[in-house]
Amino acid sequence: MNTQEKLNASVMGTYGRFPVVLEQGSNCTSKDENGKEYLDFGSGIGTSSLGYCNEAWADAVCNQVRTIQHTSNLYYTAVQAEFAEMLCSATGYKKVFFGNSGAEANECAIKLARKYSFDKYGKGRHTIITLVNSFHGRTMGTLSATGQDVFHNYFFPFPEGFDYVKANDIDDLKNHLDGTVCAVMMEYVQGEGGVNALEQSFVDAVYELCSERDILVIADEVQTGAGRTGTLLAGEQFGHQADITTMAKGIAGGLPIGACLANEKCADVLGKGTHGSTFGGNPVCCAGGIAVLKTITAEGFLQSVKEKAEYLRTKIAEIPGVAGVSGLGMMIGISLKDKTSLDVANAALEKGLLVLTAKDKVRLLPPLVISYEEIDKGIEILKSVL
Ligand SMILES: *Cc1c(COP(=O)(O)O)cnc(C)c1O
Repeated sequence: MNTQEKLNASVMGTYGRFPVVLEQGSNCTSKDENGKEYLDFGSGIGTSSLGYCNEAWADAVCNQVRTIQHTSNLYYTAVQAEFAEMLCSATGYKKVFFGNSGAEANECAIKLARKYSFDKYGKGRHTIITLVNSFHGRTMGTLSATGQDVFHNYFFPFPEGFDYVKANDIDDLKNHLDGTVCAVMMEYVQGEGGVNALEQSFVDAVYELCSERDILVIADEVQTGAGRTGTLLAGEQFGHQADITTMAKGIAGGLPIGACLANEKCADVLGKGTHGSTFGGNPVCCAGGIAVLKTITAEGFLQSVKEKAEYLRTKIAEIPGVAGVSGLGMMIGISLKDKTSLDVANAALEKGLLVLTAKDKVRLLPPLVISYEEIDKGIEILKSVL
């Protein structure tokens, strides 16, 4: 049996996988088992933010594995303390809870928002409003939070207490902000939903309407965070800081960690015994996170991400066959004139370029460390495919 047959025989078939076995990677290029190279414009869904096996990151991670790899949260570790302090100070939040994934970070945010409201107002104020076409994860709670009907099948009953409003529709939002609502949760740029950025006026309205009613704003920055859009958090570009922000994907360079960040107002809502995770804040993941944060907060780094993103976006828009370019920074959606996104992804793969899809769009989430030469190379392949 080859690797694909072997894996399919023993791993549940929950993914539509491309027929490639990736064996090795360096910077922005990975190699398959036959030695064929692929320029990666997907970063493992925006997760390998510093590319494959970045030197400083790999040193920090390997060093931590050989020092102390796990302790549980019954004890303290210096790396968790340092990562938490760095992350809070860089993002402007008071405190963080560490889980292991984006969905877990969002679960924490949901629990936090409900308890904040319960502590202050008692029962009945528990509804979390999310946006139609959102994506918040695959746990039962975050599936409920996800505003797409296709995710609300098979697994009934789903947890209650979620309601959905149309993105960029302020009236719809107003109509749903009744006395049962404790939080509004949104992605500044919907990733899985099709790489659609929210309108500034809608984001402004969310903050204004929520603050008037002491409703918490939760920003799901699992995909947009960690420098992906050209700022550490996408919220910075909208001029707002949510009460709660969740991060995961790119934050530790490919190691599993999720963060739920809370501001002064709700930093102490989750006290002893109210939440937890065996692996959460694992020393190895925190060491990886510190290496990523040091890199992306270094002088000039995010500015260069912005500039490279602008360059890449302009080049893509010039390709015949491209109907439009959406998203923000290095989170790029490409609308196509006459091809399907999956056909383009498959053809690009054939030519040595890894890209993602989001609904009918081709989606690019290149490593933040990508070079102009690599961008040009990727553009040439995209041109030939389109
Ligand atoms: C990927 C993603 C999640 C889920 O993250 P997992 O680590 O897969 O649990 C949640 N929200 C957004 C916006 C995402 O892009």
